[in-house]
Amino acid sequence: MSRPIAVFPGSFDPVTIGHWSIVQRALPLFSTIHVALGVNTTKRGMFELERREAWLRQAFQGMPQVNVIRFEGLTADLCERLGASFIVRGLRNSTDHGNERSIALMNHALRGVETLFLPALPEHAHISSTIVRELFANHADVGPFLPPGVSI
Ligand code: ADP
Repeated sequence: MSRPIAVFPGSFDPVTIGHWSIVQRALPLFSTIHVALGVNTTKRGMFELERREAWLRQAFQGMPQVNVIRFEGLTADLCERLGASFIVRGLRNSTDHGNERSIALMNHALRGVETLFLPALPEHAHISSTIVRELFANHADVGPFLPPGVSI
């Protein structure tokens, strides 16, 4: 049986080593993972979409199973368009779990899409795009929190 297709959606503002690690660990389960940069019309973000997309491409270059795309609208609709039966999400803590559970149930109710949760590795559980933005804004070295090969 061929392996299913998955979507890993996010704002990736910017992509972190935590995101990268989740994709690496999910990769053996899927034929393709579409890393989908969500265009949120109400939330502008700190980094331009072009830069966020370029960093995602750098992070996943040389991985033919990973496809970087941009999308607008509902993740469940994107999954249907791409023929993806799974959404991959990372869980860092119980707050993530609480939020993600509702979203996962809604995606299942809308389009029958299942969500696969992977726990953040202990060494990544404290890393978020929000904290990386904060460090960057205060001129701290964010290199250790970015995927290999990415510099911002
Ligand atoms: P969103 O705005 O949709 O939450 P993010 O870009 O912040 O998008 O995160 C995308 C996904 O990556 C989410 O499932 C989030 O929980 C997960 N994630 C973020 N940081 C980490 C991390 N350090 N370790 C594991 N998963 C993470």
